Amino acid sequence: MYRIGPHSRRSVDYFFTKGVGDYHYGEGHPMKPHRLSITNSLVIGYGLHEHIDNFLCPQPATVSQLETFHDSDYVDFLSKLTPRNVEEMFRLHGDMVNSSEDCPVFTGLFEFCKQYAGASILAARRLGEESCDVAINWTGGLHHAKKRGASGFCYVNDIVLAIQHLLRKYARVLYIDIDIHHGDGVEEAFYNTNRVLTVSFHKYNGEFFPGTGKLDDNGSGLGKHFALNVPLKDGIDDESYVTMFRAVMEPVIATFRPSAIVLQCGADSLGCDRLGAFNLSIKAHGECVRFVKSFHLPLLVLGGGGYTVSNVARCWTYETSVLLGVQLPNQLPSTKYDRYFLNDRRLHPPLVRNVENQNTRQSLEKIRISVREKLRYMDGAPSVQMQVLPPDLTRWLEDEEEREGEGEREREDNPKMLGEWYDPESFAPSGEGKTLETGSASVMYEPVVLPKRGKARKAGGRKKVVEEGEEGTGGSGTPRGKRRVVRRKSGKRKEDEEVDI
Ligand SMILES: [Zn+2]
Repeated sequence: MYRIGPHSRRSVDYFFTKGVGDYHYGEGHPMKPHRLSITNSLVIGYGLHEHIDNFLCPQPATVSQLETFHDSDYVDFLSKLTPRNVEEMFRLHGDMVNSSEDCPVFTGLFEFCKQYAGASILAARRLGEESCDVAINWTGGLHHAKKRGASGFCYVNDIVLAIQHLLRKYARVLYIDIDIHHGDGVEEAFYNTNRVLTVSFHKYNGEFFPGTGKLDDNGSGLGKHFALNVPLKDGIDDESYVTMFRAVMEPVIATFRPSAIVLQCGADSLGCDRLGAFNLSIKAHGECVRFVKSFHLPLLVLGGGGYTVSNVARCWTYETSVLLGVQLPNQLPSTKYDRYFLNDRRLHPPLVRNVENQNTRQSLEKIRISVREKLRYMDGAPSVQMQVLPPDLTRWLEDEEEREGEGEREREDNPKMLGEWYDPESFAPSGEGKTLETGSASVMYEPVVLPKRGKARKAGGRKKVVEEGEEGTGGSGTPRGKRRVVRRKSGKRKEDEEVDI
């Protein structure tokens, strides 16, 4: 229905909030927002901005936007957290943070969350308005955050917020997650609905963070059969991964018939990642992006994990070029971040480690057959079942209609707000274009858009709370007075521990 003509060039919007790469999770923490600045500098250094239709600097998400998914007391908690009051806040609301080591409190934390979430929300909104065909936000993709809890380096789940927006326009949204960690926060949010199908490819051995995402977790209620998990083992190589990805996604898309796709491109599934254990090259990772793009559906592309920052920047730059249909030379452009690439100045360095591929032909075939089996249950169902929305979603849609109505009125009354989605002030304080530092080149940006069709122009690791003796469900909060097992994201470095709560 919303399929875009396969031969017309797709318009691509790119979202980057100035300053989003300046936050710091703290000494030694694997999550480094700085990778976003490095990525952006390579994108511009390669001149890809000249092929991007609209290069946008979004406004931060508002509190009420965050509350379309997150509980208001949790958003309130996040908004008040500072490095100074952290002990008191954690004493009062410690249940809202899975691990203070994985999810530390740093200066500007809430602003950071609002920035990456604002970008994903705007991206979804523009896709919904059909203002673009592809929307890229490498600053988003924080898939572990829960309705009422921070987890695995993620505080606000921008993906859920974006999908909620897409559901206003699109009947069925397909979420695909190629981060090495299970996309538990997104799966959980839409576990009971058949309007969102989540498909996560990840490492699973029952121990690796977040400990969920086994083959048989398939959704529940109306959402039964609308969550798919592809659990993989260490060392998976390019050929096995890409073959599996295509073998799963082709029938999934044919059966579910999504009207829009959200692709989380966590780069910790690359070889040589600081926390990951797969053996993928950047080309193979990008091949998944190319394959999804080939279906010519409205597409939101997000970042996610990725802890060897130079490779994250290479990967997302390459994937930007894939989405734009532009070929890049292997030699990296010179930028202000050259020091990150002293060892290898190529876009595609060898990333294969000497790690044995523990995925056998038989184990992969078992997964593929299992997914095919599950799809038989889904076949033909969504169009009928969609008429009954789950209670939560129904209420959310009603609230959203109301909020939207108010927003429209406000905008009519106050013409200044018309620019809210493009944040003209952040790029052009006095009506002039503002120079954005780009490394090798200084690029002058007009405040709103580049011309259409512009040719010339995880600290020690995340933890997961699992009730003793049972499989974790990814839910936030554990009843007090029980003993819980805490799992960290980089569990390979630290033993899981038990704590009294
Ligand atoms: Zn990850």
